[in-house]
Amino acid sequence: MKALTWHGTHDVRVENVADPEIQESRDAIIKITATAICGSDLHLYNGLMGGMQEGDVLGHEFMGEVVETGGEVPNLNKGDRVVVPFTIACGSCFFCHQNLYSLCDNSNPNADMAAETMGHSPSALFGYSHMLGGIPGGQAEYVRVPYADVGPLKVESDYSDEQLLFLSDIYPTGYMSAINADIVPGDTVAVWGCGPVAQFAIRSAWMLGAGRVVAIDRVPERLKLAEEKGGAEVINFEKENVYEKLLEMTKGYGPDRCIDAVGAEAHGAGDPEAERRDPDSGEANHPLAINEMIRCCRKGGHLSLPGVYTAPVDGFMLNALMNKSLSVKSGQTHMQQYMPPLLQTIEQGLIDPSFIITHREKLADAAGAYERFNTKSDGCIKVVMTP
Ligand code: NAD
Ligand code: ZN
Repeated sequence: MKALTWHGTHDVRVENVADPEIQESRDAIIKITATAICGSDLHLYNGLMGGMQEGDVLGHEFMGEVVETGGEVPNLNKGDRVVVPFTIACGSCFFCHQNLYSLCDNSNPNADMAAETMGHSPSALFGYSHMLGGIPGGQAEYVRVPYADVGPLKVESDYSDEQLLFLSDIYPTGYMSAINADIVPGDTVAVWGCGPVAQFAIRSAWMLGAGRVVAIDRVPERLKLAEEKGGAEVINFEKENVYEKLLEMTKGYGPDRCIDAVGAEAHGAGDPEAERRDPDSGEANHPLAINEMIRCCRKGGHLSLPGVYTAPVDGFMLNALMNKSLSVKSGQTHMQQYMPPLLQTIEQGLIDPSFIITHREKLADAAGAYERFNTKSDGCIKVVMTP
């Protein structure tokens, strides 16, 4: 089959790879009908994530049709249409029992590798390094889904792939980031970033009762989408001082709840693309967005971090975080917890997640699509690919 494979920084290729096969009784094989590129994939594309190997198949946002199941997948039948969560979870460990699926204790076969750097291993993720399982991803024609009796969400509605696909990651991720911000009705919520995750965080903040949502980025079409379709007030961090503007908007208090939907590859104002890496350490994990958030947040406020970090971050303003009594919640999304209720919001007509799509491509053209999404050229906000 054809799949998008990783060969090093800025080097991804569509190649022939072996077809996936059932390996365990709880596996299913899915024929992919739609797959997307995520900001998390860019951390792999830009070489920030350890544990990658040449030839790894990327992709963790996908849906499709069941073509084969192992002997212990009673919930799925051949021909079923499913959206697959990017977190792989067994459904029966201590963490899965608490709905903390991205912390599953059993799904990462390389848990030792992750535990060595982080103390404990989170769950395996599709197409996201050998440290997080070495499980081939879904930017491919077919994919093997482990624990298919727990993960895939069966969709029987006649909604299009484009309307349902983002249940695989960014809609639940934006939603959990708003839940993690502990929004109290009327709160002013500031969201750093206007990328795909941020756009869903903005909408979710409104659903959870925010009184005001402010979104920060520098890419004009992303700011426009947040403002015109998301109802947020926006700040272009290259044109305005974010701290001064946010304090002016909140009578000096600062926003009550702050969401970091930027992560490791934050830019500074006036910081050209070439300066994304720290010139001294070579590390690209910048505390730029998170530190600005800590400075701006109201004393006693809450920070939510859906943004992914791949390494320790020097210069993190722990001093201000502590002295301002800020609370922090974070994590890869506990997907299986949020997919069913968020499917209902789509079926009830409360949201049509396809609003985010700017580019529709063939999987064969995935390398070009990565380049456009990474450089944010051609107005690219979200790419959907079909095999
Ligand atoms: P994206 O790269 O498309 O969006 C990031 C946005 O942040 C861009 O629009 C960029 O211009 C903006 N930005 C950069 N520096 C900034 C700054 N200093 N202030 C404000 N905005 C700034 O990515 P995305 O798909 O929206 O994902 C966002 C983050 O969420 C990534 O780190 C991704 O890995 C992470 N993510 C996490 C989960 C999870 O489960 N926690 C799931 C999906 C994605
Ligand atoms: Zn993703």
